[in-house]
Amino acid sequence: MRKSLPHAGRPWSELEPDMDAMTRNDIDWRRGRSPMYVFYTTDSVYDVATKAFFKYFTENGLGNAKAFLGVGQMEREILEMGLSLFHAPEAAVGTMTTGGTESLLLAIKTCRDWTRAHRPGVKRPNIVAPMSVHPAFDKAADLMDLEVRRTPLRPDCSADPAAIDRAIDDQTMMIVGSAPCFPHGIVDPIAELGAIGVARGLWLHVDACVGGYLAPFARKLGYPVPEFDFAVPGVWSMSADLHKFGHCPKPASTVFYRTPELHAFQKFDHAEWSGGRMITQTYVGTRPGGAIAAAWAVMHHLGEAGYLEISRRILEMSRAYVDGINAVPGLQVVGQPHLSIVSYASTDPAVPIAAVADRLRSSGWLIGMTREPPAIVTMLSLLHEPVREEYLGDLRQAVEALRRGTTAPAAQAQASYS
Ligand SMILES: *Cc1c(COP(=O)(O)O)cnc(C)c1O
Repeated sequence: MRKSLPHAGRPWSELEPDMDAMTRNDIDWRRGRSPMYVFYTTDSVYDVATKAFFKYFTENGLGNAKAFLGVGQMEREILEMGLSLFHAPEAAVGTMTTGGTESLLLAIKTCRDWTRAHRPGVKRPNIVAPMSVHPAFDKAADLMDLEVRRTPLRPDCSADPAAIDRAIDDQTMMIVGSAPCFPHGIVDPIAELGAIGVARGLWLHVDACVGGYLAPFARKLGYPVPEFDFAVPGVWSMSADLHKFGHCPKPASTVFYRTPELHAFQKFDHAEWSGGRMITQTYVGTRPGGAIAAAWAVMHHLGEAGYLEISRRILEMSRAYVDGINAVPGLQVVGQPHLSIVSYASTDPAVPIAAVADRLRSSGWLIGMTREPPAIVTMLSLLHEPVREEYLGDLRQAVEALRRGTTAPAAQAQASYS
């Protein structure tokens, strides 16, 4: 029978146990069982983030310009910190959004409208992007009737600048690189893509949604992460999620443009309706003030020193996972992951990766998979630090069992991310 609103209301003391019961079979993310979706950094970050979030729980980011001036100031300061981190020119501008998908939607809409104004010959705009970019590009293209042309990767799973160059035509409005891409954790050769953009006068967007707030610290710590931000001359816009390795609570992301002239094409401005004129920078209307306050608080709580320390721990842990996985005979990490996304494939026909995934699932791990190459992918956060040996132990056992033939070959697991 379909549920309807209960007749009488009940207090929290009764609701909480019901909700606990409903979530009892959820993935045990606190014990590092989820390879994505959640990030828990440290107890003190959690404490500051929840305090700030709930203090500004009722404020609405939609009203930041008129009503919630303090939250509006926090938002501006978050954006300024991002622009500094990404070596943006003095005049550069950004917008805070609810996530990577919205940041990309805005960057693509802005590019489309800039293209309409500046390149009237472009009637059927396309976006040229490596095979590894996030489906949020296709989502935006679906909404805006654009074409996405995906180009093959190089053998190390990075974007192939030559393939991108070949796919460009006179209807191309944007080229894209990731820093890093979601499936393999590889930072694309942004400097080479920037050179193509400069040579052809094309808009290059860098999707640093997952790694934007980790990569600058990795570079400072001396990890060999290629240049990826506005320091590269051809980069016109960038997206970077605070709610991933920015260690801020959901929903929080940022999108940046090299000049105010580009950003000017982002806003939505409408007067033809019964209400007053409405101008918004984002595509959503109401936005949680708490997420803005929490992002401001986390960034100030950590400071550069805090981000460096957490990044150091995440990167050391990721290297230990990479070494541990490569030490398992028959498994091989895909490419050379630059940050904290690690994917690994099978090199031994006796050890199909889908069967490894099945065994890991039966040990309680949620498994993310990629389609090409067929691999298991994990986005490592500090939740995965204490369970590293446990995970690697289960992985070794899974592979050994398959080699000994003690496991029936598994049904092919589907690569999925939903
Ligand atoms: C997560 C991610 C996105 C989408 O971000 P959401 O916050 O899930 O909307 C886009 N690009 C990359 C590379 C990502 O990792």
